[in-house]
Amino acid sequence: MQKGPELLDKPLQYLKGVGEARAALFRKLGIHTVGDVISHYPRNYEDRSMLKKIIQLQDGDQCSFEGIIASRVIVSRPRKGLSISKVSIRDDTGLVNAVWFNKPYLKDQLKPGEKYIFFGKVTRRGTFEVLNPVYEKVDETGPVNTCRIIPIYPSTGKLTQNVIRTVIRNALGYAGNCIEDIMPAWVRERYDLAGALYSINNIHFPESDDAFLKARERLVFEELLVLQLALMSVRNAHENAVPGITFGAREEVRSFVEGLPFRLTNAQLRVLEEIERDMESSRVMNRLVQGDVGSGKTIVATAALVKAVKSGYQGAFMVPTEILAAQHYSSLRELLEPLGVNVALLTGSVGAKESRRILEGLASGEIDIAVGTHALIEERVVFDNLGLVITDEQHRFGVRQRAALGRKGTSPDMLVMTATPIPRTLALILYGDLDISIIDELPPGRKKVLTYAVDSSMRERVYNFIRKQVKEGRQVYIVCPLVEESETVDAVSASELAFRLATKTFSDLRVGLIHGRMKPAEKDEVMKSFISGETDILVSTTVIEVGVNVPNATLMVIENAERFGLSQLHQLRGRVGRGSHQSYCILFNDSRSEIASERMKVMTETHDGFVISEKDLELRGPGDFFGTRQHGIPDLKIANLYRDMDILKKAQEAAEIIISNDRLLETPENRLLGQVVRDRYSRVMKTITMN
Ligand code: ADP
Ligand code: MG
Repeated sequence: MQKGPELLDKPLQYLKGVGEARAALFRKLGIHTVGDVISHYPRNYEDRSMLKKIIQLQDGDQCSFEGIIASRVIVSRPRKGLSISKVSIRDDTGLVNAVWFNKPYLKDQLKPGEKYIFFGKVTRRGTFEVLNPVYEKVDETGPVNTCRIIPIYPSTGKLTQNVIRTVIRNALGYAGNCIEDIMPAWVRERYDLAGALYSINNIHFPESDDAFLKARERLVFEELLVLQLALMSVRNAHENAVPGITFGAREEVRSFVEGLPFRLTNAQLRVLEEIERDMESSRVMNRLVQGDVGSGKTIVATAALVKAVKSGYQGAFMVPTEILAAQHYSSLRELLEPLGVNVALLTGSVGAKESRRILEGLASGEIDIAVGTHALIEERVVFDNLGLVITDEQHRFGVRQRAALGRKGTSPDMLVMTATPIPRTLALILYGDLDISIIDELPPGRKKVLTYAVDSSMRERVYNFIRKQVKEGRQVYIVCPLVEESETVDAVSASELAFRLATKTFSDLRVGLIHGRMKPAEKDEVMKSFISGETDILVSTTVIEVGVNVPNATLMVIENAERFGLSQLHQLRGRVGRGSHQSYCILFNDSRSEIASERMKVMTETHDGFVISEKDLELRGPGDFFGTRQHGIPDLKIANLYRDMDILKKAQEAAEIIISNDRLLETPENRLLGQVVRDRYSRVMKTITMN
């Protein structure tokens, strides 16, 4: 909502019923002004709209009724710590008793002859009784806590729902008329949206179910529209800021591609073309490449690096783990050294002498490409002429880190790669500042990883199967359960399992262990031994999840699979099936919950990362799915990215039209909208546009 200049900005104490003490409680909820409290939306509702006469009350009813206090309040104290207050209420049809527990003060509040509206649960104990009813006097503004659909607000313990409701009611009465409609008229018309004031009133105190739905739709639309516009503005700012580098070297890229031992898939070729076009244009590239595990993103990224280096620039390739950095480093060297390209690996565990050499090489321009972890964004890393920045597995990096690496060059092109496919509409939200390319095709000849969900009764057979695979010369991953969100605890459980397997079950086989608490050099040792085939079984935590490539590994066993997210299971499964042998994934699930078996079913039946991520979203909700906080997008107040997909699509369409006609949101029609976009997202927009 647009903040009207005066009343909406007033501190909460301006409202009737709010003193310093209450204002302090509201501040705990982040509510400071009248405008804030008006946009404190309910988290739920309770239908108290059924209004009956006393004679109509029935056992089990939850309903409102009007009545006059017909007796004094009698307080009894049957035992310590319990008081019971009882009073009779009458209307012109009959009499009913109301009973409250531990509210002895009601004696002084409810006076015979006064009229109230009550809401509560009716029970029959000989005569009818209403237990702990809510009651209120009704004035000219109508009922707040009874006789209607009642909002339930997010709160801290000390602020009761009644207080919040009353304060919001007062706020609406006091300042409601200041609410301006920020939505351009044509948008409201085209998408049949309710007006702002109507929506705000009805989100708090719905007149009916329909009114609530209309109100919510409008507010969700508005929230998503504003978010979209913010993201699109950022993208526009990218595009229209300082000109980017214009790369050439099309020939060199072509001959690199032709020199590969395999043909790129059509999807890879298409995406590479999109990247090359971006790189050749004078605008700065900000492109996201999405592709399922094994779709061959790395090769495409490598081709982009060739283009950068052969045009006279350096490239940086940042990945989230040391294991992955080491792996990319060795495959890049293999591919690029024959072309005379100089690649270096920079991580936290590179020795002092070696890292000095690399830092010098990068500063002088002698080294063409740096592959590494976060170590790349340290201040001491200086590039001579950085032209292309690639980050892999984007969901692990925040926008800030990406931007920090970008600042090491002069408007370098940026390429972001992710193997967590997400539905396109959501990608537009989460990566709204990026253009998107999708590699939606796997290289030919890939076999599906046969996936089975089993319970512990199958353990013996699974162990036999592991043995059989090893006997055939293959290798096996065993992923330990996530114990909790703690690397240390996970590490302990992995160590214990590895020890048990190495000393008992598989004492005749070579069992390795890797987890996030090991020193980088140790991890490296373990991975090298697994890659070279000296280890048969690798017990690991999820550190193995991202990108690791050992084609001879054909079996992935996951303990307590029900504790993992589906996208994570899909990532883990992607560690096998990378060679020519048939591969398998076995999911241990001992949970009897329906949702767990639903999830296992998705995994055994589906191999498409996009489908899996939609299911994941459906079963888990988007909250913990993306870590939107890390991405820098503030929590949404009312929209739910999954449930409101239809509204999201419309809001996206509207945002595109608005931005294409009025890039800076300056026309009179869009002015208010533009102001809200900037108010709400100024911090995010700054972070993103810094690069
Ligand atoms: P991603 O990073 O998308 O999971 P990778 O780039 O690691 O996938 O590729 C997985 C494997 O497939 C690598 O061994 C790579 O060399 C190989 N590969 C990539 N593209 C092709 C292709 N077009 N044909 C055959 N193999 C390919
Ligand atoms: Mg990869």
